[in-house]
Amino acid sequence: MLVKLVVQVKLLPTPDQAAALEATLHACNEAASWVSEVAFERGEFKNFPLRKHAYDHVKSRWCLGAQAAQHVIKKTCDAYTTLKANLKAGNLGKPGSKRYRRATEKPIMFRPRGAQPYDDRMLSWQIPERAVSIWTTGGRVKNVAFTASVEQLATLALYRKGESDLLERDGMWFLNATCEVPESELNTDPVDFLGIDLGIVNIATTSDGEILAGRELNRVRTRERGLRAKLQRKNTPSAKRRLKKRRRKEARRARDINHKIAKHVVAEAERTGRGIALEDLTGIRERVRLRKPQRATHSGWSFAQLGSFIAYKARRAGVLVLHVDPAYTSRTCAECGHVDKANRVSQAWFACRNCGFVDHADRNSSRNIRARAWELWRRGAQSIAPAPPPHQRGGAGRKRSITASDARCASPE
Ligand SMILES: [Zn+2]
Repeated sequence: MLVKLVVQVKLLPTPDQAAALEATLHACNEAASWVSEVAFERGEFKNFPLRKHAYDHVKSRWCLGAQAAQHVIKKTCDAYTTLKANLKAGNLGKPGSKRYRRATEKPIMFRPRGAQPYDDRMLSWQIPERAVSIWTTGGRVKNVAFTASVEQLATLALYRKGESDLLERDGMWFLNATCEVPESELNTDPVDFLGIDLGIVNIATTSDGEILAGRELNRVRTRERGLRAKLQRKNTPSAKRRLKKRRRKEARRARDINHKIAKHVVAEAERTGRGIALEDLTGIRERVRLRKPQRATHSGWSFAQLGSFIAYKARRAGVLVLHVDPAYTSRTCAECGHVDKANRVSQAWFACRNCGFVDHADRNSSRNIRARAWELWRRGAQSIAPAPPPHQRGGAGRKRSITASDARCASPE
């Protein structure tokens, strides 16, 4: 089985190269908006029929090559397909609602700097040299440098396949390259589980006692929030622009941190022959009711994103992931099993009322998560109960207990 993933590399164009890339994105997106109008007027959203009406004009008016013109038309069709799916799924409200009408009454417009797909005829990679040669409306631009980690370079060299998207964000240029990576065979005989506690003060704490992204990150985020609040109060067009830019930058940084945490956790589990035990993520926001300063610190942290990064990296590495019910993990003693609200003496510390065991609160929780997963796995491995239908949620919500048969089939999706 192959896993599709995207490797994002940052381009380092010279000013001249950047100008050529910018002109190209503008031309492609302007052309796409025009194609979109044609499609909308004619009610024709399929690629091949639409080409008949748009191809020649797009090629000549915006000086696009044959490949680029085809990609522009296909990109437009894809945008309408996505819109249709969103409308059908009810993501834009009910038919007749304001949002629904806004989305359907006018043709889709493309932002001047929206991403543009490139195929191998328009883009070639010189991976050892960390450079690409790329088509632009001003001709082919050679030797555009890019930065990538050694790991990214290896993935690109071995598995890059199909299209890449060119995009610009806040003055930086990126290529998103699609790679098809073979997944490892799932290790169905883990020696143990690595428990992960997700929290507000420390984003992730492992049952080995490692804290991943803690206090230092919070300091940065608090400062960042202060800056944003200032900009928000200003409320001028330039402040709004800067605010937007900071938000995007913050999102990129958070994404990067989630990638790093996921990578570390999966590598550690793989190296030691263990599975990964995560708490069931549904409802983490409701669960973390804290006093205000703490609540502000990590509110909005994307634990779902972290979960999905762990899931796909684990799948690549053949590492099993189990989700367990997190109820009471923070007030249960990892040593003796005693459950008492009073065990949690503070946000940071755990002290058992029964046996006197003292530990960092998050580490104690992660050990409980590890133990729960191991118990489920052990029982599941012996169980002959039939697996329940997939995605059976029932009305139990987040407190749904995971059955032994769940544990057997809860490999990453
Ligand atoms: Zn105890």
